[in-house]
Amino acid sequence: MLAVVPPPVTVRVPSKINLHLSVGDLREDGYHDLTTVFHALSLSDEVTVAVAEEPGLEVYGEGEDAVPTGADNLAWRAVDALAAYVGKAEPKVRVVLRKGIPVAGGMAGGSADAAATLVALTALWKLDLGRDELASIAAKLGSDVPFALYGGTALGTGRGEQLVPVLSRHTFHWVLAFDHRGLSTPNVFGELDRLRENGNPPRVGSHAPVVEALASGDPRQLALLLGNDLQAAAVSLRPGLRRTLRAGVNAGALAGAVSGSGPTCAFLCEDAEAALEVAAELAGAGVCRTVRVAHGPVPGARFVGGDDVN
Ligand code: ATP
Repeated sequence: MLAVVPPPVTVRVPSKINLHLSVGDLREDGYHDLTTVFHALSLSDEVTVAVAEEPGLEVYGEGEDAVPTGADNLAWRAVDALAAYVGKAEPKVRVVLRKGIPVAGGMAGGSADAAATLVALTALWKLDLGRDELASIAAKLGSDVPFALYGGTALGTGRGEQLVPVLSRHTFHWVLAFDHRGLSTPNVFGELDRLRENGNPPRVGSHAPVVEALASGDPRQLALLLGNDLQAAAVSLRPGLRRTLRAGVNAGALAGAVSGSGPTCAFLCEDAEAALEVAAELAGAGVCRTVRVAHGPVPGARFVGGDDVN
């Protein structure tokens, strides 16, 4: 009897920005406690998985040359982790990543691909695993991976992997400025530790006002509260970001902040029309490589062209 080969499965997965990111002091184990408000944006990657005799991974799109295609790709680590979890030896799959999320941009693109791969393989292999079970596998792959499964807006604690959904009534409109080169997340944390050893860089306060602003749905209120403890470190490593942040506000954004560990800058705008105007002006200002508009919150990893089975 001929075995029936299941059709390929494609999953779209959002990027994230951090509306609030508070970084605790360096712990003895080398980690930092984080309190963050994640917000999933429409700027996304697509991941297709298919049964294949020749296992492997291909990458196309934004920053493709900077993405590893071997076992160290986070999407491939997700293949290995899920295969080990369900006791599958040597998974015969091909993974194709179509990247829209900037690589090493502070928008958790690799984590997004890992989350999408878990969801896609669950369907391809017809596994009976819910999102919460996938999230426990996801958390072992990286602290931003669980959020990419759920999307929306969420408060993250621990290393960012312990999530509680946050009510957000409104669609917010954003302009994203991509830099010419990425920034390494460990280097940015290291720079923050150095700045804190040598001085007292400002720290963001409590996340509570951000949560209230999200519930109110008023972008002007939220704009006053965007805050990121990693911003000073990212700007210290990439001083040109100061100019980018200023240019976005001069172009009419309500506020701007470095996204996560940077160097991508995210600008909150009054509405969709304003975002298009800010994007056009920022693109002409010559302060960044490229500009995108996006909105949020959006859902987490979702099948493309099919019903969500999880
Ligand atoms: P984070 O803020 O979560 O650390 P980031 O968005 O700044 O992440 P990523 O795009 O996730 O950065 O990539 C960080 C590094 O991980 C890249 O420099 C790249 O070498 C490696 N990497 C591994 N897998 C992937 C992937 N699927 N997509 C992008 N980069 C990947």
